[in-house]
Amino acid sequence: MSPHHTHISQVHEQIIARNPGEREFHQAVEEVFESLHLVLEKHPEYMDGSVLERMCEPERQIIFRVPWTDDGGTVHINRGFRVQFNSALGPYKGGLRFHPDVLLGTVKFLSFEQVFKNSLTGLPIGGGKGGSDFDPKGRSEGEIMRFCQSFMTEAYRHIGDKVDVPAGDIGVGRREIGYLFGQHKRITNRYEAGAITGKGTTWGGSLLRPEATGYGTVYFTEHMLRAAGEGMDGRRVAVSGSGNVALHAIEKVQELGGTVIAASDSAGHVHDPEGIDLELLREVKEVRRERISAYAEARPHARHHSGAVWTRGDLEDVEVALPCATQNEIDADAARRLVSNGVRVVAEGANMPCTPQAVQIFRENRLLFAPGKAANAGGVAVSALEMQQNASRDSWTAEYTDERLAGTMEHIHTLCAETAKEYGVPGDYVAGANIAGFLRVADAMIAQGVI
Ligand code: GLU
Repeated sequence: MSPHHTHISQVHEQIIARNPGEREFHQAVEEVFESLHLVLEKHPEYMDGSVLERMCEPERQIIFRVPWTDDGGTVHINRGFRVQFNSALGPYKGGLRFHPDVLLGTVKFLSFEQVFKNSLTGLPIGGGKGGSDFDPKGRSEGEIMRFCQSFMTEAYRHIGDKVDVPAGDIGVGRREIGYLFGQHKRITNRYEAGAITGKGTTWGGSLLRPEATGYGTVYFTEHMLRAAGEGMDGRRVAVSGSGNVALHAIEKVQELGGTVIAASDSAGHVHDPEGIDLELLREVKEVRRERISAYAEARPHARHHSGAVWTRGDLEDVEVALPCATQNEIDADAARRLVSNGVRVVAEGANMPCTPQAVQIFRENRLLFAPGKAANAGGVAVSALEMQQNASRDSWTAEYTDERLAGTMEHIHTLCAETAKEYGVPGDYVAGANIAGFLRVADAMIAQGVI
């Protein structure tokens, strides 16, 4: 074994031993490490100063109690997390996830991914993530508000526009950001707009922030297709999810001339061979807040099926798959199914929706595959632009913000493609993203000394 292979596997073993049971975190680290032997072979100096070890140990991990009272007067206790992973490039930046499955390991994996994603944007943001095992499903407005206020009553002391800037993720949208921001303002007695992003546009939010993750994923996909001499126009697309990322990805695919034939929620998926009626899907999911089966009931050709989109044996002539739901939704079986159905392009709108085995299958079959840290970076990129607008007490037009988003996605695509080429693996967007993301953070860490 070469010295760099030995170094990588020693650090990897250490991480597994130090973070027992945190499988998703191990997986996220493994996915990055897998590309790093290409860097260490070329630049062995990155083995010095424990850069790799330091990069895998969060700078700070905060765990706290979140007590709140439901409408019936019963007190509930949830657990709050904020993992401040790496601040080499700027204040910690990343969303908050409220979902019953959230554990420290979940937040740690998301936060680790965020470091590399944020690095790829080229913007001055470090990486962090937070959340809680609170389940917002079925909770009233008042309960959601009290939970958010309680979460911020502890979290406020760890965040700030120069320290750590949360935003949304699964279970945290504009409503929750409003309650979190309001409580931050009240406790600190400061209107510190840049301390949280994803705000409403009348009170410091950026235009296009809600659209940014979904639009950005499709911009990235379009760049991959164009590099292969094609485009989104005329493509048939399957999307999973029906939340903020999925809805805006569907919108942009349709705008670029593609047809989306599937979408899903946690209870099942709809197949609509005529193409998803976005207005109806929005009405069902965002206004009526109903199950996606209600969509199929209202559309003559659409059918509702239980299970994930990726369990479908027949995806007809779908060529592009955009997983926009959650982590590990596409496993090896699903990946094989996609390949045999003729899918040629997969771009991750969600964070780590494909298992390492699935990614391996895509690579072996030479699919165009975009990892989430590159493909879905548009969301956090517009968050960084929101921070810029807040710092200058300005607000930009939708056209200008979209131009900046599109420019950032083009930059990330070029960076990943060129880095992959430079390191001898042309077309490998996974290696390109990991290496380019790593180099910017590692160089900053080395320049800043052993801290
Ligand atoms: N939660 C989003 C992500 O996974 C956005 C984070 C942010 O805007 O800070 O990148």
